[in-house]
Amino acid sequence: MNLLSVNNRIKIYSVFLLFLATNNTIAQDSTYARQVIKTLTAPNFEGRGYVNEGDSKAAKYIAYEFKRIGLQSFEENNYFQPFSFPVNKFPYDVKADIDGLELIPGKDFIVSPDCPPVLGEYDFIRLDSQTLDNSALWKKFLKHRKRNCFIIIDKHTVANIIQKENYNMIVHNEVKARGIIYIEDKFTWSVSTKQAKFPVISVKREIFKSFRYHINLNIQPQFTAGHETQNVVGYIKGTKYPDSFLVFTAHYDHLGRMGPDAYFSGANDNASGVAMLLDLAKQVSKQKNNCSVAFICFAGEEAGLIGSLYYTSYPFFPLPQIRFLFNMDLMGTGENGATIVNGTEYRKQFDTLVYLNNTLSLLPAVNIRGKASNSDHYFFSEKGVPSFFIYLMGNYTNYHDIYDTNEALPLNRYNQAYQLISNFLKVMDY
Ligand SMILES: [Zn+2]
Repeated sequence: MNLLSVNNRIKIYSVFLLFLATNNTIAQDSTYARQVIKTLTAPNFEGRGYVNEGDSKAAKYIAYEFKRIGLQSFEENNYFQPFSFPVNKFPYDVKADIDGLELIPGKDFIVSPDCPPVLGEYDFIRLDSQTLDNSALWKKFLKHRKRNCFIIIDKHTVANIIQKENYNMIVHNEVKARGIIYIEDKFTWSVSTKQAKFPVISVKREIFKSFRYHINLNIQPQFTAGHETQNVVGYIKGTKYPDSFLVFTAHYDHLGRMGPDAYFSGANDNASGVAMLLDLAKQVSKQKNNCSVAFICFAGEEAGLIGSLYYTSYPFFPLPQIRFLFNMDLMGTGENGATIVNGTEYRKQFDTLVYLNNTLSLLPAVNIRGKASNSDHYFFSEKGVPSFFIYLMGNYTNYHDIYDTNEALPLNRYNQAYQLISNFLKVMDY
């Protein structure tokens, strides 16, 4: 129960803003964040995915940090909220060669996350937009196609296709090919909770500079119906309003491994958000807080917000007790500012962020955005929990590929983003 009247609260809130405008004293550097990101992206965490329980190893590390920082757990000595979901894993061979040229997984090719097992040597049929758009050529293609071939399509040409129905027949493999190969310039991998009936493979454009004849594949995924994982939840009890919660969230899972030779370390997505969350937890544990402050690291985000959906179905304290939730994802850049999803929904809190950002001269911009189902704030938001999702923007383009590494991640506006979020926390803790 909050005993302050609305008027008094507004008065205190305004005084706080004035105070913050002149007294920004939170000391901060990114040394600890760098250390957290380095740990979470190390090969033994397996890309915080599904092979060798990489995600559970990351959860144990986060729980260890929670304890060290001094967070309390809702269950005695246990920060974990276990759950399970189906996932297509790649613990075994993911190999491809084209005309004897061995392709490097992650660099030269990726397989679709829902890829089924495939083993053998296959011919190609190249399909261009002309064939797809010309009914005579299309008929000829359907008549003469060989069934055990891979169809090759250049992603460049896909955008120019007029006959979408013909292209859709390819996408759904109604032409009964062995599989599809896309020629691409940049890869974006993900996680699948299903296994498809046919393989889709993306190959880098430079591999096809000269004419190619055959592909040799050995891809051995393993579909698991109940992959066991967990959310990690801790908190610091408020002194004045212990039943009122400010909540900070970040997903710790990433895409994991694509065979023994490629893993996706997910430095920006979202080791950086976990680092920010732990940094905030360190600050909160040292100061006196009116409200309780909870910290949740979700699993299964990349597989479709599964961890946060589970948490909102089985919360550790009633969702209406959340005064505000702040979800953090992609905290590694910021030279182009931050974007606040749900900014249009919670205008007063958004204006507070802009005010703090301008007064303290932090990020180049704080941009407003409407609702979006693009991270773990979403199911909270749908259940009426006031929430923001913040992500930073920059020139770093390594997203869902093997290049999103600790070494590549700049962390160039991390401290400014930290100042913004931690000052927002102080303002909201009235
Ligand atoms: Zn993410």
